[in-house]
Amino acid sequence: MLKRRDFLTTSALAGFAALCGTARAAAATKPVPVPVQPAELNLCLQWNGIPGKAINEKLDFLEANGFKAVELPTGKWLFEQAEAFKKAMESRKLTVATACGPSDFSHTDEAKREAEVAKFLPQLEILGQLKSVGLILCPARKSVPIGFEKLRQDFITNTGKRLAQHAAKHGTNIVLEPLRREETPFLNLVADGASMARDIGAGATVMGDFWHMAREETSSMGAFISGGNLLSHVHIASLKDRKIPGWAPRHDQYVDGFRGLKIIGYRGAVSFEGGIPKGGDRVKLIQAMVIYLREQWELA
Ligand code: MG
Repeated sequence: MLKRRDFLTTSALAGFAALCGTARAAAATKPVPVPVQPAELNLCLQWNGIPGKAINEKLDFLEANGFKAVELPTGKWLFEQAEAFKKAMESRKLTVATACGPSDFSHTDEAKREAEVAKFLPQLEILGQLKSVGLILCPARKSVPIGFEKLRQDFITNTGKRLAQHAAKHGTNIVLEPLRREETPFLNLVADGASMARDIGAGATVMGDFWHMAREETSSMGAFISGGNLLSHVHIASLKDRKIPGWAPRHDQYVDGFRGLKIIGYRGAVSFEGGIPKGGDRVKLIQAMVIYLREQWELA
């Protein structure tokens, strides 16, 4: 039997060897890769939260205020506005991050699961044409009628897999979004989403949302590191009440998470998903957020 003292000695040696990078054979986890390029803070807004009405008005606002990317709605907007949007994006430096909308692959009725797949296939084609990072999905909301084990397996090998393959064929991805435990009974951790994306294969990625992560993750930095090169998108909000970052600075601490993004060389979008405090001036609050998040990024 291994004595405690021997165990401590063995652990200490293993730890030292790991620190020196010489314990590959003994290491249970993969080393964190050194980023090929340094990380960048590419700030992004969701379409309906951008001040302005016309497409060009919104895109002008983003460019004038230092944003680098835009996040789109799925469904009706995508089908009706994609052409005009694509034209308005010509000769701009903005990139198209993800598209975000509701999804549910947990129906017991197989025909309903198929309908959910069929609904997203043409949207992936449009997102590919727009050179979008991908389509945000979460396999289930509050309850899982099909059962957890079956849903996870069905998503990884069937519904999610076929969507990911279709996405890859059209130059985009599906983007798994971990949510809070009250919102979905699994896929609560970035690491879990990353392992699902890895199992699905080509066309599958994961994202992290600071708001959900604050509740679920033991370390935002660790969570982003575990996303690694499968991390394709980030949502951010005030950690006080899911309103705009920076308006509650005592709560809005993102340095730990940003450090994780820097370690993995993340260059995707960091997109504000949240509300505006009652009576607040949207434009001024967005401009203050840009300054605040840049300061947090510098501190990381
Ligand atoms: Mg989100």
